[in-house]
Amino acid sequence: MENILEKEENHAFVSKSGYKTDLSGIRKSISPHLFKSNFLKAILYMGVAIGFYVLCLTILAVTFAYNLWYLYPLAWFIGGTGVTSMFVLGHDCAHSSFFKSNRWNDFWGHIALLVPLYPYYAWKYSHNAHHKQTNLLEMNPKDIYYDNAWIPLTVRQYSALNRMRPSKARTYRLGRLFPPFGAFMHNILTHFYPEKFNESQRQKVIFSYITLGSSMLLISSILYFVTNSIFAILHFYILPALFFSFWMSLYTYQHHTSTEMDFYNKEEWNSYKGQILSTFNSLSPKWFSLLHLNIDIHTPHHISTAIPSYHLREAYNELKRSEYSEDIQEGKFNFSYYYTQIKNCHIWDEKKNQYIKFSDI
Ligand SMILES: [Zn+2]
Repeated sequence: MENILEKEENHAFVSKSGYKTDLSGIRKSISPHLFKSNFLKAILYMGVAIGFYVLCLTILAVTFAYNLWYLYPLAWFIGGTGVTSMFVLGHDCAHSSFFKSNRWNDFWGHIALLVPLYPYYAWKYSHNAHHKQTNLLEMNPKDIYYDNAWIPLTVRQYSALNRMRPSKARTYRLGRLFPPFGAFMHNILTHFYPEKFNESQRQKVIFSYITLGSSMLLISSILYFVTNSIFAILHFYILPALFFSFWMSLYTYQHHTSTEMDFYNKEEWNSYKGQILSTFNSLSPKWFSLLHLNIDIHTPHHISTAIPSYHLREAYNELKRSEYSEDIQEGKFNFSYYYTQIKNCHIWDEKKNQYIKFSDI
């Protein structure tokens, strides 16, 4: 990957396109119509997400019907790949960008997030915090209103946790070394504690719990009624949702977490550093990117969450042709790069402004 950032003597990253602190300029480099929803494109993309998920369910059904047990793990992985498309659809709805109508966004968002087992409103509120404060080092595990997507513990925080709550430090270590577990735990610990949400939002969060819980019961009952097998509930529903954690971790981890990214304290942080300089586009082949509704193209999504997934590619092409192109970080996705990052991105050393490994502490 080409590292286009340079470090100053004080280790703060500076933009190659000059000193910038906010997004007002870079927003203007994207055509206004790309910030608006488009009903026909939305229906088309929804068809892609649902169609691909149904195809994955069909593969699960064939392995189940013919009892091809040796293919089950592969089928669950393929199922998880389909679940990811539904999740990305729910992600767009949570940003109220997919459809013009907020009611439609919230309705389809709830439906889409039933599949990966996420409570819609809880996800919407915690994810908004990630967008507001991307890569800001303000970690407070009791509060979901900070950037909660793979923000590393600092050396001081990790040492204190290791001393006072060793089991939590172990969970943190396992989540960093095996990101699918980290993504799974993030869903449980961030979204299923209603007391973590502001009172004004709690009622909606509880509504999403009830919707998710009752739908899970209904889907499980239908699966049992049709197949007469409890295993079918795991095979068609729960295991693909767990395998989805692989894709969830892969995308979210790569977007802002790598040795090339920087994290900032409150005094240093500004939206240009957080949203532009600390966002990486790990590009997949186009056909695969379409199946996951362009989730690999990430910088435009951090410039404005109003840009729907079906406009991300066009917005990205405009950015690449703009005066800001030097600040856009991209690379072709490859597993060895991802593996290297998992090996190195453990704890944040605030003094050196870089990651250190667990073994270095
Ligand atoms: Zn988002």
